[in-house]
Amino acid sequence: MSITRTDQYFFNWINGGQAESEKAMPVLNPATGEMIGRVPDLDEASVRNAVDSAYRAFPSWAALPARERSRYLNDWAQRIEQDREQLARLLSLEQGKPLREALGEIAGTADIIRWYAEEGKRAYGEIIPASNAGQQLLVYREPVGVVGLITPMNFPAATVARKVAPALAAGCTVILKPAESTPMIALALFRRLMETELPAGVANLVTGDASVIGQCLMSDARVRKISFTGSTKVGKRLMEQAAQSVKKVSLELGGNSPAIVFPDADLDKAAADLAANKFENCGQVCNGINLIYAHEDIRDALIAKLLPIVQALKVAPGDVPGADIGPLINERAVEKVERLVRDAVAKGANILAGGERLTGDGFAAGYFYAPTLLSNVKRDMSITHEEIFGPVATVLTFKTEEEVLANANDTAYGLASYVYTSDFTRIHRIIQGLQTGNIGVNGTSLAYTQAPFGGIKESGIGREGGRQGLEEFMSLKYVALTTV
Ligand code: ADP
Repeated sequence: MSITRTDQYFFNWINGGQAESEKAMPVLNPATGEMIGRVPDLDEASVRNAVDSAYRAFPSWAALPARERSRYLNDWAQRIEQDREQLARLLSLEQGKPLREALGEIAGTADIIRWYAEEGKRAYGEIIPASNAGQQLLVYREPVGVVGLITPMNFPAATVARKVAPALAAGCTVILKPAESTPMIALALFRRLMETELPAGVANLVTGDASVIGQCLMSDARVRKISFTGSTKVGKRLMEQAAQSVKKVSLELGGNSPAIVFPDADLDKAAADLAANKFENCGQVCNGINLIYAHEDIRDALIAKLLPIVQALKVAPGDVPGADIGPLINERAVEKVERLVRDAVAKGANILAGGERLTGDGFAAGYFYAPTLLSNVKRDMSITHEEIFGPVATVLTFKTEEEVLANANDTAYGLASYVYTSDFTRIHRIIQGLQTGNIGVNGTSLAYTQAPFGGIKESGIGREGGRQGLEEFMSLKYVALTTV
């Protein structure tokens, strides 16, 4: 298949046409370290062109009836579904995830786009009972304008859909900047969006130096909103930059998600769910479990169920049939996991499985880390405070509900948490007590198209998914109308 060629060049998209630059950036296969393609490294002038074109395109796109915007989105989803296999292969090659997961992500990408194609038709305003005779109080919902969208490497297709689809459905025009390590799948999705004959400038995609593009978008007052998914560090910087022109911001940032398992839980289900969540996408999931708090009475039983699942995981490049776990995205990611595991072991954690980088046959040039299970993890270890973003499950123990709630909340993050118990009154208390934007009770799947996903505290602002995901791209206009 041609996507394994090392000379493949993907153009950017500005004002409805292909854009290139003299400088190019390589894209690497994380399983082999080999170059698989190149993308433009745009200069500031080109990024400004993208903003110019989005700004010009905005009034007529915003004025288009929602039903017509919906047609473009549905057409886009259909083109993605048609090329599902090819897109999944590209995604897996570039990002490293197993082909099975990549196929699921592409299906989800199309699903998100279709959902917002419909939701855009329901961006209703309001009529409020007036105070005076002859008066009407009206609330309009309008698209915010030109928006900058910055996406991460872990779900490089789905996150494009979670931002581009609601933005376009709302009537905004967009400039997308995908992650440096995974731009090709975003560009491949965009090519299909352009094939719908979307009006020029409505959707633009730029690649290049993140800080240059970021600075261009953030310093331009015509960009009225920024929607970002990535690290808390970069998110804070963008928020500061957004203050200059008081842009609306949506931030999906890091997490430090706990999973709490009580003695009355279904341990078989808990072990299967926790492992599925923890090792999906090689642990590179923002709502991935960082810490498993097992009640002391069932700790050993839970570990006995988790261990064989972890040991059975097959690590291989994403295109190998039966692969469960691919490589991490880059060397930096491996080094972070190595550092966290080293620190934990030095402070008394036990390695029950894995615990090392894989360097043998087929792994040497890639960024593979063995699926790892650590027990005896304690609160003084770095791994309990930093987001792991890798295939390492950590087990801590607790005695009381109060103690575990206090520990689970003792973090600057507030993205997701999970609880396993069959006690209804406890479920109620825990839901009230956990300080996270999303909670999974007796299950770990959270990212559904129709539900509002997002964090509190330093995990972010705003929501993606559901009608709330559309509202992020709209502002209210209130009118007090007196009829004379
Ligand atoms: P990660 O650590 O997962 O790579 P980052 O926050 O660094 O997370 O990256 C998420 C996205 O933010 C990527 O698209 C990246 O290119 C982009 N990014 C990184 N630095 C900046 C910046 N200074 N301004 C704008 N975007 C940035």
